[in-house]
Amino acid sequence: MKYISTRGGMPPKSFCEILLGGLAPDGGLTIAESYPQLSTADLAEMAQLNYRDLAFKVIAPFVDDIPAADLKALIDKTYTAAVYCNGRTDSDMEAITPVRELEAGLYIQELSNGPTLAFKDMAMQLLGNLFEYVLAREGKEINIVGATSGDTGSAAEYAMRGKQGVNVFMLSPHGKMSPFQRAQMMSLQDANIFNLAITSMFDDCQDIVKAINNDAEFKAKYKVGAVNSINWGRVIAQVVYYFKGYFAVAKQVGDPVDFVVPSGNFGNVCAGHIARQMGLPIRKLVVATNENDVLDEFFRTGSYRPRGLDQTFETSSPSMDITKASNLERFVFDLVGRDGAKLAALWQQVDKGPGFQLSAEETQRMSEQFGFVSTRSTHADRLASIREVFEKYGVMIDTHTADGYTGAKQVREAGVPLVILETALPIKFEATVREALGRDPDRPASFVGLEDLPQRCEVLPADAEAVKAFIRKLIDG
Ligand SMILES: *Cc1c(COP(=O)(O)O)cnc(C)c1O
Repeated sequence: MKYISTRGGMPPKSFCEILLGGLAPDGGLTIAESYPQLSTADLAEMAQLNYRDLAFKVIAPFVDDIPAADLKALIDKTYTAAVYCNGRTDSDMEAITPVRELEAGLYIQELSNGPTLAFKDMAMQLLGNLFEYVLAREGKEINIVGATSGDTGSAAEYAMRGKQGVNVFMLSPHGKMSPFQRAQMMSLQDANIFNLAITSMFDDCQDIVKAINNDAEFKAKYKVGAVNSINWGRVIAQVVYYFKGYFAVAKQVGDPVDFVVPSGNFGNVCAGHIARQMGLPIRKLVVATNENDVLDEFFRTGSYRPRGLDQTFETSSPSMDITKASNLERFVFDLVGRDGAKLAALWQQVDKGPGFQLSAEETQRMSEQFGFVSTRSTHADRLASIREVFEKYGVMIDTHTADGYTGAKQVREAGVPLVILETALPIKFEATVREALGRDPDRPASFVGLEDLPQRCEVLPADAEAVKAFIRKLIDG
């Protein structure tokens, strides 16, 4: 399998060549030259596999420059109940992504039992092991520099902690994260993890990361890399759980199943799109959004209008508060028949102007050919959904999964099983859950007392030079 750029300007490369990089050199996203195709007979064989064997079956066709035995070992080491159980011992943790039935035909697939309690662990843990393997083989090192307001940064740190050849420098707004999220990151004592608390807002943290990446000399000398949501390794790792969820609820292989996906940067649901393109009989892919509904507008009208920071709302499902959906480009590439020139012209209108409008025919094909539907919800919907799921089914969900539940109620059709992807545990968004239920969410046993652990971070001003100086001093010694 070779990889190309969505904008058509990159000679084909192999998996390991694109794994550590960010954007393609032409500014596009890297994507597989084609999607492996699975027949109904292939699917029937996969239906009985455990998570690790299924992950190998799904991922291996995308990777032809890691020997199969090594790839299998990396996958086996990643997807164990010890990593995806946060101290729970129920028998279904062996499933890694257990599917819970709320009522006949309505399910939640648990994706947030990893070390940071958000679905990002599903992919990030594999990425940590892949990075370590590829860096060791090539005798290379990488310094990951990123910005976070919560979920991504902690998932990256827990995936990369203690990994040979990798340092992580994670910027976050000083004093702005929830006490739980701060404790999660800053209680890490690993020598390769550095939390940089910037005395400013999240946007400034992101600007500093951009400035560092724009300094070509610094970037090359200090081997600066990223693990953001456009990373292809993350996307393919996420394809796996759609298969697992499908097999858990379909009565027969071949039956249609709907998935509802709480979405922000379109990484999670892009993996669902790839699973569908590979032949998994997904009927609808429901993109659930919050008040930041740029994706809902896109799927309803074909008009993609990324918002400015001044038009972005801070909501109670903050991991879906996006201005642009960075992975959307991969889907639109497929929508326009994989025409790199056409895609590049559309994204020129995103990068230099207000965005673009698809034709009526293309807009229609998003749902008819590709199965996409979208929904939108508000803070009031979120509270109502958290309450309803708790009262009706005795299950506590987080604010993002609640956006999924709100969407599920709008699109659900009798006779078609529907799976809502759980994207975080309620403990991560305590305040809103308390507002909805009048009580604190349950806390996994291994997280009791987390906030009392010793914390470590470096407080720095909102100045790219100060961050560079910190990195320089550390690497140069
Ligand atoms: C990252 C995240 C999302 C959004 O996922 P995308 O892949 O960016 O669409 C939704 N919910 C939670 C809890 C997240 O951490």
